[in-house]
Amino acid sequence: MRNDLTFKTVSELSKMLAAKEISAVELAEHFLARIEAHKDLNAYLDVRPEVTLEQARAADRLIAEGKGGPLTGIPLAHKDIFVTKEWASTAASKMLEGYMSPFDATVVAKFKEAGMVCLGKLNCDEFAMGSGNENSAFGKVFNPWDNQAVPGGSSGGSSAAVAAGLCPIATGTDTGGSIREPAAFTGVTGIKPTYGRPSRFGMIAFASSLDTAGLLGHTAEDCAMALGAMVGFDPNDSTSVDRPTEDFTRHLNDGVKGLRIGVPRKWMGEGLDPEVRASIEAAIEQYRELGAEIVDIELPMAELGVPVYYVVCCAEASTNLSRFDGVRYGHRAQEYTDIEDMIRKSRTEAFGDEPKRRIMIGTYVLSHGYFDAYYLKAQKVRRLISEEFHQTFKNVDVILCPITTGTAYDFGANADPVSAYLSDLYTVPASLAGLPGMSVPCGMHSNGRPIGFQLIGETFTEARLLSVAHAWQGVTDWHRRHPTGY
Ligand code: GLN
Repeated sequence: MRNDLTFKTVSELSKMLAAKEISAVELAEHFLARIEAHKDLNAYLDVRPEVTLEQARAADRLIAEGKGGPLTGIPLAHKDIFVTKEWASTAASKMLEGYMSPFDATVVAKFKEAGMVCLGKLNCDEFAMGSGNENSAFGKVFNPWDNQAVPGGSSGGSSAAVAAGLCPIATGTDTGGSIREPAAFTGVTGIKPTYGRPSRFGMIAFASSLDTAGLLGHTAEDCAMALGAMVGFDPNDSTSVDRPTEDFTRHLNDGVKGLRIGVPRKWMGEGLDPEVRASIEAAIEQYRELGAEIVDIELPMAELGVPVYYVVCCAEASTNLSRFDGVRYGHRAQEYTDIEDMIRKSRTEAFGDEPKRRIMIGTYVLSHGYFDAYYLKAQKVRRLISEEFHQTFKNVDVILCPITTGTAYDFGANADPVSAYLSDLYTVPASLAGLPGMSVPCGMHSNGRPIGFQLIGETFTEARLLSVAHAWQGVTDWHRRHPTGY
């Protein structure tokens, strides 16, 4: 096994493929062997080497004919929220165990068109509901930095796989933080683009007004390279933004001179782990040295994000998950008396506790008599949160802030749903406003677990966010640190 390949970036691998120093098949074989060797992490749910190798051979043919692009032959893996024709698509739920989709999600199809080679499907929280990947029906995922710690969630298979060198880049989905938080917990770089830029077609729906596809990789540059192939208008998605994709790498080297970075000072205060605070403060200082202007800001509306988010996402989840009735697809109970009994038993047997909890909350807030008090109120506050961000972005170019109050927590430490929900306080505001966000590695805690900071931008400013992250990664090496044993 060529161990030097394990933590190579997409950009490095792309050059090696173009120079014919390595073939797509060799790369695929390398990562397939690593996935097999590190099965204990439980990062992957479905791996089919013969399908992967077939894609790799096709990529090698394209490269040989001179028809390859920068991503041709680069391996990636998909969160098991994206449906795929060749691998089972389960959303980590017993409800969809073994389900084979008749089509590929648009994001999956786009990466296929770019010649990328899929390594398989990644574990996650059931229907992407959670923050620690402890809610998967197929078992928890371990954090490669510390086997007592969660890898973050819901894209915990994606974060663990990238951090452990089981793929160079992975897709994830972020509804309320599910790319940014796991990226921070495992020391990798994550991006959630503007809502509506990547297609939701073929993404198993959790909360449709929030669900956004994105990426977890080693560097901002890698995310920029892959993002260009991922986004774009899709007529199959009614909320897809009719805006062409772009070359997200074009601003990478712009630097941060004169850039106004807003810091919500209150978020840096009480409740934040002191070592996390110190690492983020050091990053702010470094940006100042690189020529950025640091501006203190206030986001009082955003502080209402958690209750608003949990009303909205549960309402939408209760509607979206009603399609799983045992009639059309998914799990069906073996024994039942009539149709109603069949639906009840099928749902009771196949949904885990967290989807059930959210279906009940969602049904409640949408019911007659409570709709105005909860759902409508939440939508109004959501609008205020968006407006507050848009106002703020008149005075600053990006916002830099924490992602969570601490590092990856121990398994079981967030078992109480209310404390789990409250831990999303720094990530849900950008989701409610549909804004792009990133997670960038910026330190190591004395507990041995990684620290990251969050960047939030105005809609459609992914290229700028990526360049701000790239500037940081040019003067630091946190993104180059890897867990021992991998
Ligand atoms: N932790 C949040 C939740 O449980 C976010 C999930 C997500 O972004 N998919 O809903």
